Amino acid sequence: MKSYSKLSLIKQELASGLLNLTSLVSFYLENIEKNKHLNAFLEVFDREALDRAKEIQSKIEEGTAGPLAGLVIGLKDNIVYKDHRVYAASKILEGFESLYSATATQRLLDADAIIIGRLNCDEFAMGGSNENSAFGPVLNPLDNSRVTGGSSGGSAAAVAAGLCHAALGSDTGGSVRQPASFCGIYGFKPTYGRISRHGLIAYASSFDQIGIFTQNIEDTALILETIAGHDEYDSTASVKPVPAYSKEMESGRKYRIAYISETLEHKGISKVVKESFETLFSRLEADGHQVEAVNFPYLEQIVPTYYVLTTAEASSNLSRYDGIDYGYRSPDAVGIENTFLKSRTEGFGKEVKRRIMLGTFVLSAGYYDAYYSKAQKVRRLIRNWTDKILENHDFILSPTTPHAAFKLGALTHDPIAMYLEDIFTVHANLAGIPAISVPGFKNESGMPFGIQVMGKAFGESKMFSFVKELEKTVPATK
Ligand code: GLN
Repeated sequence: MKSYSKLSLIKQELASGLLNLTSLVSFYLENIEKNKHLNAFLEVFDREALDRAKEIQSKIEEGTAGPLAGLVIGLKDNIVYKDHRVYAASKILEGFESLYSATATQRLLDADAIIIGRLNCDEFAMGGSNENSAFGPVLNPLDNSRVTGGSSGGSAAAVAAGLCHAALGSDTGGSVRQPASFCGIYGFKPTYGRISRHGLIAYASSFDQIGIFTQNIEDTALILETIAGHDEYDSTASVKPVPAYSKEMESGRKYRIAYISETLEHKGISKVVKESFETLFSRLEADGHQVEAVNFPYLEQIVPTYYVLTTAEASSNLSRYDGIDYGYRSPDAVGIENTFLKSRTEGFGKEVKRRIMLGTFVLSAGYYDAYYSKAQKVRRLIRNWTDKILENHDFILSPTTPHAAFKLGALTHDPIAMYLEDIFTVHANLAGIPAISVPGFKNESGMPFGIQVMGKAFGESKMFSFVKELEKTVPATK
């Protein structure tokens, strides 16, 4: 079977009878089987997907199918689905099944999408290489000796390798955009509050957002308009009406673009990334857009601020895993305190424990003001400065990542080096604004790296229109 790049094409062929949904699902199931070595899926819902395919195929024939009929999608293993297992790639949730579906999951199902399985990720979404999963790392489909990025590595690998048409992930500090960049696909994180977090297993609640992986911007828009919007189960979900993103994409407009001058001067950035972006900026200007360097004095504060605040929130969120309410309980625990201690010691992985301890420390009475309160203030400064840039510019452009995918194991010994990988992505989460990684370039070894576009809060429509323009410019820069 040919592979379909766009959902609109699948829908057309389903409608005209050229394609049958059961054969489409079987095609993905075969691909999953052939690519088992990638370790992208933790579980495949094969029987259920085939049953739903039959059911939705009849709806298509009767003309009653929902707007996402034809979409075969995977869920990161931290987005819950009623009566299905969900582990957040952690041993501590072993055996746990969700009693309800996340709002995003439910909206996908209501629109007749087919959920094909749950996807590997870093444990509790903490990581930037998918090497922190209790179920082993995910391999980059483009070069199996390299990481996919993280934490939504399984989602990125599955879409890049054609194991499903699209995937949901979560992005607290770049976990959708960074793996999308490393795997050569689109990875989008909406404005904080655009998609409900109800049913997304919490890591750092004031940062977490569900994000979308696709092979093209039209599919991102279509999926977003289906799953976004007000939700009575999440008070941080915005009540703003959801635009028809897929129909609002304008073409031919010229934009005012900012780039942070410190970004391209950063010591961690590779030569090929720097040069590609210099070429990109001059091409965008030649195409009629305005490109201006702006100054951002907090670049060095971004990563520390993110790690103080997210570990604090994580230490609080993860206190619920006590060996009693969910999943794993140490078999030789005796008494209540010992049950907490042993279950948490045995159930959590190294990185999760490191973050819980760091978060507990920054929240502790003697250090609260020095770390947590201070980081909150810095977050406000970052947000205010970012908003000011975006008052005068439509978007801020930067590389998504300082370089392309690195080798498996290359950074596991050095958590600080791993945290610095997030330098360009955590900015959008600190400021609560939408951001997307668009596939752009390749390095000398043929590995991709993306272009990150950050926009104004709730400015997704305009961002998608700009991505269409960017796509016209990018090929000329390669
Ligand atoms: N790599 C970042 C971290 O380790 C981002 C994680 C995320 O967005 N979930 O925290």
